[in-house]
This record gives sequence, structure tokens and C-alpha cells, in this order.
Amino acid sequence: MSDNPKILIAGGGLGGLALAQALRHGGLDVAVYEQDPTPQIRNQGYRIHIDPDGNAALRTCLPPDVLGVVRDTAGINGDLVAMYTHQLNQTMALTFPNTSDAEITNVDRNTFRRGLLTGLSEVVHFGHTVSAYEVTESGRVRVEFTEGGTDEGDLLIGADGVGSAIRRQLLPHATVLNLGLRCIYGRMTITEATEPLIPEDFHRGFCWVADESGCGAGFAPQRFRSHPAGTEDYLMTTVVATTERLALSDDELFALPPEQLWKIAVEATADWHPAVREIFAHADPETFFPITLRAGRRIDPWQSGPVTLLGDAIHTMPPTGGVGANTALQDAATLATELLTAARGEQSYPHAIAAYEAVMLPRGFDTVDRSLQMAAQMFPQTA
Ligand SMILES: Cc1cc2nc3c(=O)[nH]c(=O)nc-3n(C[C@H](O)[C@H](O)[C@H](O)COP(=O)(O)OP(=O)(O)OC[C@H]3O[C@@H](n4cnc5c(N)ncnc54)[C@H](O)[C@@H]3O)c2cc1C
Repeated sequence: MSDNPKILIAGGGLGGLALAQALRHGGLDVAVYEQDPTPQIRNQGYRIHIDPDGNAALRTCLPPDVLGVVRDTAGINGDLVAMYTHQLNQTMALTFPNTSDAEITNVDRNTFRRGLLTGLSEVVHFGHTVSAYEVTESGRVRVEFTEGGTDEGDLLIGADGVGSAIRRQLLPHATVLNLGLRCIYGRMTITEATEPLIPEDFHRGFCWVADESGCGAGFAPQRFRSHPAGTEDYLMTTVVATTERLALSDDELFALPPEQLWKIAVEATADWHPAVREIFAHADPETFFPITLRAGRRIDPWQSGPVTLLGDAIHTMPPTGGVGANTALQDAATLATELLTAARGEQSYPHAIAAYEAVMLPRGFDTVDRSLQMAAQMFPQTA
């Protein structure tokens, strides 16, 4: 491998971009290939909880100016995670008082991704779907794009999310379980009119409300520290339900327009506490979209090589633990640290990849297990 290897990253999501930032800052040659034609082309989702591990990973990966952008555009810190019955009787509460503003507790996903893209315009190539790779005779990696064309590098990192094309080729035996849970994700813009509808606790962090029929709803505020253009404060309003409770096939659910998905959320919570009903009644119908909850099945270590995986591409997990993005960021930090050690000549690149995988695999799948345990507590029907 050359002294200045070229590192290809398939996927410009949260993990891939954090890795690209770290490697580029460390002086390595990086190219990120992202299937989306532009950063804003699809709804990326809403609020993401960032935990202390995610914060540590961001400090490792991001140059100070980029970390500054991400911090300035993060959400105002929350101090509560709590659970309630559907009549809003609290059953569990964890508080996190006095979190310093140097730490981030929540971000808006679109805004976070835009922050992670800071300074990477020459490195990230949108509209490039990696369809396959080939390890050449000289041990380099050539990737092919669905849109046409190829590129070649010394290493390939599959950061291409739950449907990873790189995982399918590298680990064809790896499987992803469908958990029988569907999420209908939406939001309510916080305005002078809607703010008084929000119960006090819902202003403070993530609140989970559930009935006993296999339906729950998560609420969390996204109040920007400073508003990037086009952003408004909102309350994330998400319904998660078993497929039995929803009583819709995936073909039906995923074909519904946002307004119909919103109606499902309104109807699913029709006999809940009036405060919850008011929130759904005032949510923004056009913001609702469906997601399937999945989990990667634990996989044995494989023979390391010039292709590896990161984040949801290898260990996707349900959002019940609120840690998938944090784990992807941790992967990026671990991999960047190992590769930059190799760049300084302190170890070989193959050793760096092997050292990364030895940490990433058990950590990632332990986190999947914890998220599944949480899902089983929240939805005993699926356990
Ligand atoms: C409803 C919901 C709420 C969540 N809340 C939280 C939370 O609060 N906290 C938390 O830590 N996690 C949360 N997560 C999980 C988190 O979103 C993921 O774990 C995280 O985004 C994984 O990052 P990643 O970089 O591995 O993948 P992604 O962020 O999914 O990025 C993958 C990228 O690869 C691109 N791509 C895919 N295929 C190709 C290809 N063939 N070629 C090129 N590009 C490709 C995609 O377009 C995408 O941009 C939540 C998830 C959901 C669904």
C-alpha cells in the first residue's frame, strides 16, 4: 500500500461523514460516495439523541471549526428521559441536570448532517450509488456506481446503512431481522399556539408514552441553539406499533401519503390522555413517514481485508435504545484513530483494520442486544 493511501467511503450518512472529517483532518486522501443526489433530497428524520459516547466520538473525529458548527446548531440540552402510561402516569424517570453546553444531548438529523458536511464539498460525491466492489490483483479496491463509472482506492469502508450493498457482498451470510415493529415518524412545529399544548415534561427531553395494546409514542423537543436557515423548533411526535396493532401490510403502509400516516397516529392514540391527543391533532400532517424497525444478527469475526463496515451497515439496531447513531460515530472514531496511527507509520493498514474490527464488532452487537432488550420491555408482545 502506498504511503498516502486513498480511502473510499460508501455512504455519506452520519458515520461516513464523521469518518471522512477525521481522515481528511489527519491528511489522508478520502472520497465519499453517497447515493442521494443532494444532501436535502429526502427526509432524513428528526431529532437524534446524542449520548456521552457520541460526544466523545465527535470530539475525536471533528476538526474544531466543524465541531463548533455542529454544537452551535444542536438542540438546547434536555435533562429528562421518562416513561408514562397512556394516561400520562409516570412510570420511570432519569434526570441529567447541569449538562454543559460543550456537550450535545440532541440534534436535528438534517442539520447535523449538514454540519458534518462542512468543508467536505470536494470530498463527498452525491449521486453515486456504490453497487459492487472488486479487490484487484494488486490488492486495491475498485468500486462501481449504479449511475456508471468506477473509482479505485486502497481501502473501502462500507458506511452505507441498513441496506448496505457492501455488507451484502462482504458478508453474504449476515442477516438483518425484521422486528415486527413499525414507526410512524412526524413532528409538530412549536409556535405560540402549539407551545402551551406541550406537557411540562415533554419540554425537557425524551418522553415515552405507551398503552398495553402494542402501541407507544415518543415525544422530544428540538429547540435549536441557533437556527440555521429554514429550521424551526419542533416537537418530535412518533408512534411505534406492532404490525398486528397497525393491521396494515407493509405494501399498504409504505404506499400511504403523509396525511394518511398522520391520521393513523391520531387514531392509534384516540383514547389516550387529552394532552397527547392535542399534540397529535396539532402535528404537521405532511411530516409523517413510516420506518421498519430492524436489528442486525450477531456475526462472527471474519478475515480482515481492505474492505470493512461501519455503523448500521454492520450492526443496525432499533431506535429503542437511542444509540444507533452514537455507535456509528464511535465506529468512525475508532477506525479513524487506527488508520491515522497507520498513517504515522506506527502500524500497518491491515493491522489497523483488524484492530478496529476487534473493537467494533463486540461493541456494536452488545449495543444491538441492549436495544433489543429495551424493545422487548417497551413491546412485550414482540419478545
Ligand atoms: C426513527 C429513528 C430514530 C432514531 N433515533 C436515534 C437516536 O435518537 N439516537 C441514535 O443514536 N440513533 C438513532 N437512530 C439510529 C440512527 O439513525 C442510525 O443508527 C444512524 O443513522 C446510523 O448511521 P450510519 O452512518 O451507519 O448510517 P446512515 O446514517 O443511515 O447513513 C447511510 C448512508 O449511506 C447512503 N447509502 C446507502 N446505500 C448506499 C450505496 N449503495 N451507495 C452510496 N450510498 C449509500 C444512504 O443514503 C445514507 O446517507 C434512529 C433511527 C430511527 C429510524
